[in-house]
Amino acid sequence: MADLSTSLIHHGYRPPEGFDAVAPAVHKASTVLFPDVKSLRSREWKDKSAYTYGLHGTPTTYTLEERLATLEGGRFCVLAPSGLSAIALVDMAFLRQGDQVLLPDNAYGPGKAFAEGEMRHWGVAVDYYDPMKPDDLAARLTPATRMVGLEAPGSITLEYPDLPALSAVVAAHNGTLSSDRPAVTVLDNTWGAGIAFNAFDLGVDVSVQALTKYPSGGSDMMMGSVITRDERLHRQVQSCHMRQGLCVGVNDAELVLRGLQTIALRYAAQDAATRELATWMQTQAGVAQVFHPALPGSPGHASWKRDAVAAACLFGVLLDSRYDASRVDAFCDDLRLFRLGWSWAGPISLCAPYHVLPMRHRMPWPHKQTHLIRFAVGLESVDDLRTDLSQALAKLVS
Ligand SMILES: *Cc1c(COP(=O)(O)O)cnc(C)c1O
Repeated sequence: MADLSTSLIHHGYRPPEGFDAVAPAVHKASTVLFPDVKSLRSREWKDKSAYTYGLHGTPTTYTLEERLATLEGGRFCVLAPSGLSAIALVDMAFLRQGDQVLLPDNAYGPGKAFAEGEMRHWGVAVDYYDPMKPDDLAARLTPATRMVGLEAPGSITLEYPDLPALSAVVAAHNGTLSSDRPAVTVLDNTWGAGIAFNAFDLGVDVSVQALTKYPSGGSDMMMGSVITRDERLHRQVQSCHMRQGLCVGVNDAELVLRGLQTIALRYAAQDAATRELATWMQTQAGVAQVFHPALPGSPGHASWKRDAVAAACLFGVLLDSRYDASRVDAFCDDLRLFRLGWSWAGPISLCAPYHVLPMRHRMPWPHKQTHLIRFAVGLESVDDLRTDLSQALAKLVS
């Protein structure tokens, strides 16, 4: 009989198989056990046919990857510790010294900062294009361009680009080169979340999503994903991911699996509430312009209408240009239900003021007001949210 300390670890009891519940099991591992040396040497994790080490996947993470690939209409999925780390992973997987990356001018800011702060140091040229002008993208593509970023709509200012046209520009450019490394199109799909449109059907090669937002839905965890249809591209991302030792905690994976069960309902509810509030805001004194792709008159509305079946919980507001930055800040401070904070797609409504001009290099800003308020609508009652906006607007115009 082994000592208690040994027998507690090497215990013979196995619970009966056949347990079946709604929630997938949460499997925790760094070490994965092998029955013999032969399987230790031969087991393959890259095609998910087996398990070798916690870093390379568990039943919990494989399950999440499959569900996310299904959600987005892709075939392969790699999980990263945050949305931003998924963006950084893709940059590192596809870019080498001497390459160029073209990012949309209204791309997610920290993604730009990664390209400028890290990729540039590694000898990658970083440039921006106006995503509302496919011709501008065409003019900036060079034989060194290996990656073209896309975002629909753009972060903060919410211009909705013509994704098929931009993808077609890149495809035409690739057709003129005999390179074995054609330019890859990478969409930040956090807004669409796999629900508003199918990115791959619109010509996108790689889709990155901040699972922190809709898939989680709880404002309580961080994760990102990289989804592909093309196996060769997936292998590049997967290898880069493996070499960096990136992985996600299974308790967080469990939260996303749980959130995915209600994502379609939450997306639809927040979409309806957001459109109602954005439409109402347009009619209010003190408001100069509202940005939301489903509003006629919002930049790129026609592309959104053609390519998407839903819209996320974000809208942007420009107050009248007579209100300076401090009045815009005061308006945000006066809101009670809309709390101040980053991120979105959680239960709580949020807002944040942004100064637009420093965020743009290529896109003109035709408005006198340069301080935009970005709203993210949560799951509260629309009437209560409207009342909150109403009281803050009343203070503003009084
Ligand atoms: C939040 C966000 C990210 C980054 O996700 P994190 O998980 O916060 O790192 C990337 N892109 C967009 C469009 C986002 O809104």
